[in-house]
Amino acid sequence: MTIRLLPSTTVNRIAAGEVVERPASAIKELVENSIDAGAKRIDVIIRDGGRTFLSVSDDGSGMSAEDLSLAVERHATSKLPNDDLENIRTLGFRGEALPSIGSVSRMTMTSRVQDSESAWMISLEGGEKSEPIPAALSHGTTIEVRDLFYATPARLKFLKSPKTENAHALDAIKRLAMAHPDIAFTVGDTARTMLKLPQAQGDFLSARLDRLDAIMGNAFAANALPIDAEREGIHLSGHIGLPTLNRGNAALQFLFVNGRPVKDKLLFGAVRGAYRDFLAHSRHPLLALFIDIPSDSLDVNVHPAKTEVRFKDAGLVRGLIVSALRHALAEAGHRASTTVSDQALGAMRPHTGATPMYQASYGGNQNRPGAPSFGLHEAARAFQTPLGTDSLNHLDTALSVQHVSGKNIQEVSGDWPLGVARAQLHETYIVAQTDDGIVIVDQHAAHERLVYEDMKKGLEEDGIKRQGLLIPEVVEMDEAAADRIAARADELAELGLVIEAFGTGAIVVRETPAMLGEIDIQGLIKDLADDLAECDEALSLKEQLAHVSGTMACHGSVRAGRRLNGDEMNALLRQMEITPHSGQCNHGRPTYVELKLADIEKLFGRR
Ligand code: ADP
Ligand code: MG
Repeated sequence: MTIRLLPSTTVNRIAAGEVVERPASAIKELVENSIDAGAKRIDVIIRDGGRTFLSVSDDGSGMSAEDLSLAVERHATSKLPNDDLENIRTLGFRGEALPSIGSVSRMTMTSRVQDSESAWMISLEGGEKSEPIPAALSHGTTIEVRDLFYATPARLKFLKSPKTENAHALDAIKRLAMAHPDIAFTVGDTARTMLKLPQAQGDFLSARLDRLDAIMGNAFAANALPIDAEREGIHLSGHIGLPTLNRGNAALQFLFVNGRPVKDKLLFGAVRGAYRDFLAHSRHPLLALFIDIPSDSLDVNVHPAKTEVRFKDAGLVRGLIVSALRHALAEAGHRASTTVSDQALGAMRPHTGATPMYQASYGGNQNRPGAPSFGLHEAARAFQTPLGTDSLNHLDTALSVQHVSGKNIQEVSGDWPLGVARAQLHETYIVAQTDDGIVIVDQHAAHERLVYEDMKKGLEEDGIKRQGLLIPEVVEMDEAAADRIAARADELAELGLVIEAFGTGAIVVRETPAMLGEIDIQGLIKDLADDLAECDEALSLKEQLAHVSGTMACHGSVRAGRRLNGDEMNALLRQMEITPHSGQCNHGRPTYVELKLADIEKLFGRR
C-alpha cells in the first residue's frame, strides 16, 4: 500500500461530488457569485436541462486576469478577508464552486473589471486551466459551462430528463431571485424565455412583494398577509398566504436566512404549527419568510451546498415564527382568499352540452349540507336547461327559499364587509348583499368555526358562557357510553356542558354552551359518547377541541338544514366579522364566497 497526496484535479472532482449535484447546483453557485459581485442584472441560459450547456452573465464587479486565474484554484476566495467564519455576509465563502465545476466540465470564464483596458478569458477542461487571454466583453462576467459531468460519467448517469433538470434549475434561480428583488433576472434556452423578472421598483418591502407575486403566481400578493416581527435581535419578515389559498404540497413555501434560501425542517415545522388550526393535514399554505439574524448567531458552514444552517438558539427562532404567523392569521379576521370567488365564478361560466341535474344533485346536496362545493356549477347548468312542468314542480320543493322581509329588512351598510342577509337557500346558505356584491355563507361551516373560536377564547379567558336549562334533560344510553361521558364531566363543564351521571345508563344535562343556541341535547350527548370512544384518551378534550367543538356545532341551532330568521342570519354575519379565522372552516375550506357585482355583470356579458 502506498499513501500519496491526490492530484488537485482528483481532489476537485471529489469536492464537485458534493458541491455540484446536478446542473441546478452549478447554476445556483454561479448565480450566487454574481449576486456577491454586486450584479444588478443576471442572465441565465440553459440547454438540455443544463447538461450540454449553461451560462450565467452578470454586470457585477468583474475579475482581472490574475483574479480569473486564482478564482479557479481550490479554496481561493475574496470573501473571507479576515478568515472570520463567524461573520459570513456573502452567499459564498468556501472558494470551492469554480474549481469544482471546472474539474468536471469544459468551462470558460470571461470577465472585465470596470474601467479596465480589456476583458480577459480563461478556460478549464476537466480541471486543466489555460493562461488568461484578452477577450471581448463590455462589462461584468460571463461563465459558460459545456458538457457538465463529462469527466465523471457515473454522475452523468444519474441525471434526470432535461425537463426535470430544467425545473430544478428554475427553482434554484427563483429562490435566489425572491431574496433579491433589486436584481433583474432572465432565464432562457436558445429559443425562448422561461423567466423574466424586471428589477422590482419602489421601497424594499413593496419591491419584494412584487417579486414574490411574479414568482409564486396564484394571486399571491392579493391574498397574503404581511409579517414583520422582531425578538432579541432576530427579525422576521415576508408574506404568508391566507389559509384558504392552499396547495397539496409545500413547493410554494420559501424560507430565507440572511438572504440565503434554506431548507430547514425546524422552520417548516414551525410553519405547520402556526397553521395547524386552519388547514387539514394534507394541505399546505403558500409563504415566503425572511429571517435576518446577526451572523454570529448562525452557522452557515454546515454543508458544501450551503442550503442548511444552524441557529445558536433554534427554539427562539421557532417561537418567533409560530407567534408572528398566528398573530397575522388572527388579524386577518374573516378574510377568505379571493381565489375562492374566482373559483366560484369559474364554475359558473356557462357550459355547453350540460345534462339536467336536479335529481342527482339537489338531493345529494341536502344530504351533505356541509359539503364544500355548493354545486354552483350545477345550479348554473340548471338555468340553461329548458324547464318542463315536471322539473318546475320539482324546483319549487327542492329550493326552499327563506326571504328576509318585513321588519327584519336592514339597510346595506359599508361597515359590514359580509353584508346584510337577504335570504336563506336550502336551509343551508345565507345570501347577503354588500355594497358591491353578493356574499354566500355556508351557515354550518361558519357556525362550526365560530363555536371553535369561541371555545378557544373562553378557555383562555374567563371560561365559556353557559346557559342553564329550565328543566334538566335526561339522556338514556348504554352503560359504557354513559360511563365514558360521566368520566369526562369536569372537562365538559369547562367546555360549557354541565352533566352528571344519572343512575346506570343515563346522563342528566343541566347547562349547555350559550354559543350553541337552542340545541338538540339527545343527539349531542349520544354523538359525544361516540366521539369519546374514538378520542385519544391520553389527550384532554381541550387538546381535541377542534373535534369536540365540531360535534357540538353540529347540534347547535345554526346547523345546516335549519331555517334561520333574518335576525339570526345577520347575527351570524356580524359574529363572523369580529371572529378571527372565521373565513375558513377547521379544514381550510372557505366558510363564505364573495362575488363582486362587476364579476357577475361579466358573467352576463354586461361588461
Ligand atoms: P466563493 O464564492 O466561495 O468565494 P467560488 O469558487 O464560487 O468561491 O468563487 C471564487 C472567487 O471568484 C470568488 O470569491 C470571487 O472573488 C470570484 N468570482 C466568482 N464569480 C464571480 C463573478 N461572477 N464576478 C466577480 N467575481 C467572481
Ligand atoms: Mg461562490
